[in-house]
Amino acid sequence: MRNVFNGLEHPESIAIMGGTFDPIHYGHLVTAEAVRHKYNISQVIFMPTGQPPHKKDQEISHSEHRYLMSVLATATNPYFNVSRMEIDRKGTTYTIDTIKSLRELYGDETELYFITGADALHYIFTWKDTEELLKLCTFVAVTRPGYNKEKLIEAIEIIKNNYESKIHFLEVPALSISSTDIRKRVKEGRPIKYLLPESVENYIYKFKLYI
Ligand code: NAP
Repeated sequence: MRNVFNGLEHPESIAIMGGTFDPIHYGHLVTAEAVRHKYNISQVIFMPTGQPPHKKDQEISHSEHRYLMSVLATATNPYFNVSRMEIDRKGTTYTIDTIKSLRELYGDETELYFITGADALHYIFTWKDTEELLKLCTFVAVTRPGYNKEKLIEAIEIIKNNYESKIHFLEVPALSISSTDIRKRVKEGRPIKYLLPESVENYIYKFKLYI
């Protein structure tokens, strides 16, 4: 039996929602749903990162916490799944390894999308095997309101003109919610209600995260 964890043997398209998710919040959920709807995606796979290369010196919550919060947050959406692929992979997490594994799992017929914060596009050439990565999946760069769109559009044009790539850009108002702000609020004893699902809020308090 093929190791397909979302029950779809041959989905037409899969969007990978890559992120640290420390914690996952409504901004992430609204973004994933907006992308799914806009590009008619069969399934969205939330992919909490294991050890991201750019956060080696930063303290992030244990991957098991970030994974479980993602499961709680996505449980009620039939189009959403969460993968352990990156948190179970040993060593530094590189997106190219994930995309290659998914390509192998689903075959060439399934179109792969990778959704991530727009900032990532500005430093994507510091990622591993960027040129190959750009060929293997369609990028969806998402931004919060107030983001410098002109610079982003310029960056996208430069990448598109020089490399075989498909890159979309989407502004999502709900992304004014941020994980950094939520962690700060918890630390300062301020409310986080209505910024993330109640199940995730309860999980944060139960395990005393971010204090
Ligand atoms: P980050 O640097 O923590 O996030 C940068 C900004 O983008 C934050 O404002 C963040 O908001 C937002 N963001 C991140 N992911 C998002 C998403 N899926 N949807 C909407 N907003 C998002 O980024 P990260 O979470 O560590 O990394 C993003 C993805 O890029 C991960 O899958 C990571 O593995 C991948 N990556 C790969 C490499 C590589 O292969 N070499 C290098 C760097 C990153 P919040 O804090 O509110 O989420």
